[in-house]
This record gives sequence, structure tokens and C-alpha cells, in this order.
Amino acid sequence: MPIKRSFSNIYSEMDKINVNRKKENTEKKNYEIEGLFKPKMVNGKFSIVLRFLPSHPDEELPWIENRNHLFQLDNGSWFGCDCAKKFNKPCPICDYNSKVWEKYGRTDEARAKVKAKWRPNYYSNILIIKNDNQPDTVGKVYRLQYGRAIMKKIQEAMENKDDPELGIIPGINPFSWWGPNDEAVIKGDEKAGANFVWEAVQGSNGPNYDSSHFNPARRISKFGPDGKLHNLTDDEIDAIESQLYTLKDIEIKEDAIRSYGEVLEFYKKKSGEDLMAEFTDGSSDYAATTKSHIQTEEADDEEMFSGTPLETKKQTVTETVKKADFTNSMPFDEESESQDNAETGMVDATEEDDDDFFARLANG
Ligand SMILES: [Zn+2]
Repeated sequence: MPIKRSFSNIYSEMDKINVNRKKENTEKKNYEIEGLFKPKMVNGKFSIVLRFLPSHPDEELPWIENRNHLFQLDNGSWFGCDCAKKFNKPCPICDYNSKVWEKYGRTDEARAKVKAKWRPNYYSNILIIKNDNQPDTVGKVYRLQYGRAIMKKIQEAMENKDDPELGIIPGINPFSWWGPNDEAVIKGDEKAGANFVWEAVQGSNGPNYDSSHFNPARRISKFGPDGKLHNLTDDEIDAIESQLYTLKDIEIKEDAIRSYGEVLEFYKKKSGEDLMAEFTDGSSDYAATTKSHIQTEEADDEEMFSGTPLETKKQTVTETVKKADFTNSMPFDEESESQDNAETGMVDATEEDDDDFFARLANG
């Protein structure tokens, strides 16, 4: 039997995630991450049945979250950096946006100036149950990278629903092996899970995932030769548990991200402009303190844009992730949300920034 995990902890951690943010306009990155699932579109769409899986036995939570900013500069190149706000530290891009909102208020001018807000990337273990575009992936365990749109569906699935016809439909644990008929669920020790249908339709600005959904709760299963779903046996579940990936090693650590000064310096190097020029009387006192990092940045850049495969370098995964932040490739864009913002270009006017701004006004 697979190990027992605490579900209440999943709930309390999930409460900390706010997916009800406004849109962002950023692009996905392709990390060189072992076992990362890369869906394939055929005729502009895919429809994949998958199961989110519990955590690796050595870890507690079945997901991790990284945060980054990614946007296009006026000169056409892409700028990316991790957001230090994940560690409750100041982030230059977030600070810049706050200053813009403060100075210009909720105006078109402000919207034209602000940079893309930070965006979360979540990672979880999944089992592919059906995938007609890539039949060779079926039955395998992968790490899935996903964004707010799918995290929001996970959160909604966890909540009880009050249906006018059926009454209370209990929320599921999307990361559970079990179904409603399993003993642990009947006893109330565990919650049932469900299969997730991940559907994408290619739009003009990226895939749309709106029709993705969890199906009714059931035990983890696979399609048999008869074309029907069959519950996995306990032994089959044990076999999958032994293939789970750890996630903590791909979570970006505080000491691996660029410092405040380094981000500003990198921005200047890529754009030719001081990000904060408008708010610092043109002076850039951070430059003096970060000079020693410039050499490093150049080395990073060379490596990143030379086309040298990252995996040939001797790097930790974290380091790879950090550097991948700055590639100017145009990777697979996972979020349907990004489409909605296309008309405003790179502008990302978020409620949160506005709220911060108005809260500060109210507090003097
Ligand atoms: Zn930030």
C-alpha cells in the first residue's frame, strides 16, 4: 500500500495560493527538467486524460511554485527574472510597477509603462492515462508544469459544491489515488481523487484551456483493451509511487536568484535603459554596488544565447532554471489567460498593484 499523506496540509497550503489574479502577458520557459511533460498539438489541439499524483514519499506537498517576470523590451528582445516576492523580498520589477501606479494612477499611461507582473509556474507529478497525440506517453509518470488557469481548476475541485439538484457534492483531493469506494475514503481518512481532462485549443495568441476539467471522483485507473477505464490495483499504485519525482529540487531557492541590484543591472544591459531612471533622478547608485556581478552576467549571457545546450554544462538544476529564465526562445505558452491581454501588448495592469496603490493612498 502506498504511504499515507496528510490532506489537511494540502488544504492549508492551497489557501496561500491566490489564483484569482488578473491576467498577465508572459511566455513559458522550457526548463531542462528531467521528466518534464511536453504536450503535443495535432491540428491545433490536444485532449489528454491525466491524474495528478501525490507527493514523492520524501516530500510533503504535491506541487511547488516558482515565480518569474518575463516580457518583451522595446528593442524586441525578451527580459526575464525570478520574482523575489516569493521570498518576501523586494523585487525591482514589482517595485517599478508600484511606482508607476503611484505616479500615474489608473491611467492608460500607467498601463503602457508597467512591466509584466510576476507569474507562477507550478509543478506536480502526473500519470498520463490517455493521450492520442502521443500514445507513447500513456502509463508514464511525468512532472507537469502548469499555470494559474489549471491551478484554479485544482482549487475549485477541492471545494464542496452546493448543487441545486444533487445537494452538496463533496470536493475532491485532486492529488489522491483513491475513489469514493475505497476504504480509506469511506472511513474519512482520505479524500477521493479524479482524473483531469486537459484540453487545449490553439488560439491566435496561444492555447486556450477553458474546457479542461476534472471528471467525477474515481480511483486512479487506466484504459484496458476493451476501451474502458479499469481501476489500478494496489500493486500498480505502488509501482507508480516508486516512480514519483521529487519537486523541491526544481523549486528556485532564494540564494539562487539574482539580487535586486543584479536584476537592475541585467535590465540595463539588455534594454540600454535604467529601469528606475524616472524614479531616481537619473542617478543609478545601485550600479556601483553591483559592478562585481557584471562579469558574471556577461558569462551567463554568452552561454544562454550561444545556443549551447544547457544540459551539457555542469550545473545544478536550480542553476539551469535560473539561466533558463533569460533565454529569448519563444516556448510553449501554457496559459490561456495570456491571450486576453494581447490587445494591450506587454502591459499588465493588475488589480493587485492597483489595490496596493489605493491602499497606500488610504493609509496616507
Ligand atoms: Zn516581482
